Amino acid sequence: MAEKIGIMGGTFDPIHYGHLLAAEECRRQLALDRIVFVPTGTPPHKRNRAVTSPEDRYAMTLLATAGVREFFVSRTEIDRDRPSHTVDTLEEFLKQSAPQPELFFITGLDALLSIATWKDYMQLPSLCTLVTATRPGYSVAGVDALPIDIRRVLKLIEIPQFAISSTEIRSRAREGRSIRFLVPHLVESYIENCGLYRDSEVPRI
Ligand code: NAP
Repeated sequence: MAEKIGIMGGTFDPIHYGHLLAAEECRRQLALDRIVFVPTGTPPHKRNRAVTSPEDRYAMTLLATAGVREFFVSRTEIDRDRPSHTVDTLEEFLKQSAPQPELFFITGLDALLSIATWKDYMQLPSLCTLVTATRPGYSVAGVDALPIDIRRVLKLIEIPQFAISSTEIRSRAREGRSIRFLVPHLVESYIENCGLYRDSEVPRI
């Protein structure tokens, strides 16, 4: 049987318990063999907001997932010397693995609703099942407007505990408020020791 791999795509700025719970819930519900977290490199669509450096986001993702047997972290997008596009990432995963695995691309609903602006998005249904992990109370109305071929391969999974957001964590850190128990302890220490999110949204070099 083909290996079933969840590709957890996101900026992870920073990674938090909501992401980890979402990954675990998808793994369980879809019977995935493993989950690979793929922090974005240079997000093509985020030129209007400075994002923390890829190496810091990668390091935090490693710290958050260390010791979880089924969780892995990939540098695929971090190491790419051009903007990171999901279609390229999925093709790379398929090329690298023999026999061919079955891929499940997992991301947030906000991100997925803009899928019609992504590079070669109509190729995605032939490469993977699309999975969105949604927060409780989130409107899923926009899903009906997605192209039919996308809807056909789309699975919505509501994560009851996914009430945390990276935006909230960044603003708490900036205001000197506690982020304890919102992110794994090692991620909290990394953010404190490196002074991330303290003054502004300007990334470290
Ligand atoms: P993002 O800013 O990281 O997240 C957008 C929303 O989804 C936020 O609410 C976020 O919550 C949530 N989220 C992020 N990753 C999630 C995950 N794996 N599971 C559940 N919820 C998640 O999103 P992004 O960086 O724009 O894009 C997400 C993914 O889509 C990335 O893999 C990116 O490469 C891909 N994408 C591809 C293209 C393209 O191919 N051209 C364009 C856009 C996006 P938090 O803020 O709490 O994280």
